[in-house]
Amino acid sequence: MLSVGTAFVGRDWKLSCVLWKLTVLCGQLDRIRRKYEYIWKSRVLVNSYIPRSTNSTGNRDSLVLYREVVSLRILYLDIETAPSNGWFWGLFKQNISIDNINEAGYTLCWSARWEGDKEILFSSVHGDGEKVMVDRIHALLSEADAVIHYNGTNFDIPILNSEFFRRKMDPPTPYQQIDLLRTVRSRFRLVSNKLDWVARELGIGNKVHHKGMTLWHGCMAGVDKDWKVMEKYNKQDVNLLVKLYKLLLPWIQNHPNRGLYSDVIDKMGNPVTVCPNCGSIHLVRNGMEHLATQSYQRYKCADCGTPLRGRTTVLPIEKRRAIITTSKL
Ligand SMILES: [Zn+2]
Repeated sequence: MLSVGTAFVGRDWKLSCVLWKLTVLCGQLDRIRRKYEYIWKSRVLVNSYIPRSTNSTGNRDSLVLYREVVSLRILYLDIETAPSNGWFWGLFKQNISIDNINEAGYTLCWSARWEGDKEILFSSVHGDGEKVMVDRIHALLSEADAVIHYNGTNFDIPILNSEFFRRKMDPPTPYQQIDLLRTVRSRFRLVSNKLDWVARELGIGNKVHHKGMTLWHGCMAGVDKDWKVMEKYNKQDVNLLVKLYKLLLPWIQNHPNRGLYSDVIDKMGNPVTVCPNCGSIHLVRNGMEHLATQSYQRYKCADCGTPLRGRTTVLPIEKRRAIITTSKL
């Protein structure tokens, strides 16, 4: 009986071992399957991906198997508006009641361009009519992950939101804003922060010269010749935004993190670290950053020049335990 029992237990044990080995093997096979499925999926996406003209990271790093396949959708935007008109009694220190408003200001036109696209989109009350113009910009904003503008946080975006609100439209799908004026104001002390001045200082061009307020009068009256100048003026502002953004990139703080939109993987299928500002894979170590109680690895983007740092401490646990700090009163 004992020998039969032992034999039975022995067989059971061997069976358990075989089953356990099979389970481990299945787990390994599953991991390999998932990895190659991911790589295959990335390859399909890469084949259908149109490389962007900006943010080109090149292919210098042989370790990187696939380029960025999920990209941040950035929209450059600028709008032009018509002033309010009404009745008033004098020129200085006027307090105009709402009963004296004849017509509230409104959006005349907008110009926009997707990052990586050369085409500049344009729509106006003159060309498309009010409804189509507002619907089109609503759709573009809803598609964007981030919108680049110059003083758009205080001007362009609230004005467009008012247009949506007046027409009882839903808000566009949320997007982040990169206001280049805020970067210029907070990081530099230039003689003037006007887009025209900043662009001239950097030698990237200037705004289109026009005849002044009478251009707006002509556009509000529907004069074709004036509308041609307005379109050129509006589109040139977007061109300046594109050029200025590239130069301002390493100075922009709280830029939407391109790492979150990047799908670059190495030959092992592991995610590759990219520059949060430009998406480049070319990062170089640049010393250490020591904060109150932790130390982090510093990097610098070799493509756009943004100073970066790792998110996890490099201090070993023993060192962390040995570090103390002053108490707060
Ligand atoms: Zn970069």
